[in-house]
Amino acid sequence: MGDTTMKKALIIGGGIAGPVTAMALQRAGLEPIVCEAYQEAAAEQIGAYLTVAVNGLSALSLIDAHHVVTETGHPTGTMAFATSAGKHITDLPLGGVLPDGTITHSAKRRDLYRAFNLEAARRGVRYEYGKRLVDAAPTPDGGVLASFADGSTMTADLLIGADGIRSRTREIIDPTAPKAHYLGMYGLGGFVTDRALHAELGLRPGIYNMIFGKKVFFGYLVSPEGEIWWFANVPRPQALTPEESATTTPARFREQLVELLSADKGPAARIAAGTPDETFVPGFNQFDMPTVRTWHNDTMVIVGDAAHAVAASSGQGVSMAVEDAVTLAICLRDIPDTADAFAAFENRRRDRVERVVKHGADTSGDKATNGAGRWVVRQLTPFFLKRAAKAGIGSLNWMFDHRISWDAR
Ligand SMILES: Cc1cc2nc3c(=O)[nH]c(=O)nc-3n(C[C@H](O)[C@H](O)[C@H](O)COP(=O)(O)OP(=O)(O)OC[C@H]3O[C@@H](n4cnc5c(N)ncnc54)[C@H](O)[C@@H]3O)c2cc1C
Repeated sequence: MGDTTMKKALIIGGGIAGPVTAMALQRAGLEPIVCEAYQEAAAEQIGAYLTVAVNGLSALSLIDAHHVVTETGHPTGTMAFATSAGKHITDLPLGGVLPDGTITHSAKRRDLYRAFNLEAARRGVRYEYGKRLVDAAPTPDGGVLASFADGSTMTADLLIGADGIRSRTREIIDPTAPKAHYLGMYGLGGFVTDRALHAELGLRPGIYNMIFGKKVFFGYLVSPEGEIWWFANVPRPQALTPEESATTTPARFREQLVELLSADKGPAARIAAGTPDETFVPGFNQFDMPTVRTWHNDTMVIVGDAAHAVAASSGQGVSMAVEDAVTLAICLRDIPDTADAFAAFENRRRDRVERVVKHGADTSGDKATNGAGRWVVRQLTPFFLKRAAKAGIGSLNWMFDHRISWDAR
């Protein structure tokens, strides 16, 4: 397909990377079409809330989209760590301040997914819901033919897999690519709508709290409206089966979690117990992924979690997805040959992404560990966290201060 006409790009997945890539491609002069497997993004059901770091917000500002996060969420510039005994270990800043005063924000996952997709649709991006990609192949004219589970097909100049950690696009590009593997824990989450509880428990608003519990890793924050948002990582050697996920009620998950949290001092058990069924996020298995060696072929590329899964607790998964999106759009804008543009994209992104993935793994490696290994890590964690706090935000400048230039060619 020719380079002189507006290139048509099929974007597989309407999660985070999908709509942001679509908006960035539109700015870069391409014609994006988002194809989402479900009637709405499925991944919005997984987990309670997301933190978008300043580096991600900066990347979004290049396409005038960081307001989507700031209007949906609220500032959470500091992370505080505590032990199972309720002892405060240290505070760590979650990045610096952008020129317009914006700092790291947190938003409910469902709200953020919807807001990004609504904003992309508002900007005129075409959406096709109920389109699950099953296969894709090059066409004789240098484009790509995508096949969907409903039997339909679509052609385009290029295809971008923003289809998450269990990406089908990744497999199509490289059938030997690694698969996501179960991390040995499942997640739970929820929102406490009783606004009196945070005051009763004396919780500080605007702080992202992490508790290294004896059995469960627990995180929470208080929204400006006084809701408590929380998540928990529960170690479990076997993944939840689809039947277990479908038949275990929120009440049962809550009962089990409160029991596990009862070994700890601090607010976690009260928060979990105070979460009503309607705002309880039931168990979901957690995955990670080894390094993906091949990110693209001549007409297809992967971005976001499809290419690299950053530990959930690092708070960088969304930021990496949006940095990918903007960088890919710049490469496709400036480099006429699609395959060359994909190679330039990988060249610009791989080292940074792998460093962030490693940082995430280093700082969250204990959450699924059981027994003695867990005890050892727990003894060392306060030491490493205090050292990081002493080094100050400077030690993480490389992660938070990354800035992409939209104009530099
Ligand atoms: C519990 C939890 C907590 C997290 N917390 C944070 C956090 O605080 N901060 C942070 O930055 N990151 C966090 N992350 C990571 C973050 O959620 C991901 O990095 C981010 O969602 C990646 O976005 P994505 O668009 O690449 O993939 P996804 O959000 O997974 O979206 C993929 C989309 O593709 C669709 N899809 C899949 N297959 C197909 C197909 N074959 N055809 C069509 N569509 C398809 C899916 O339905 C989905 O809508 C967390 C992750 C988890 C699991």
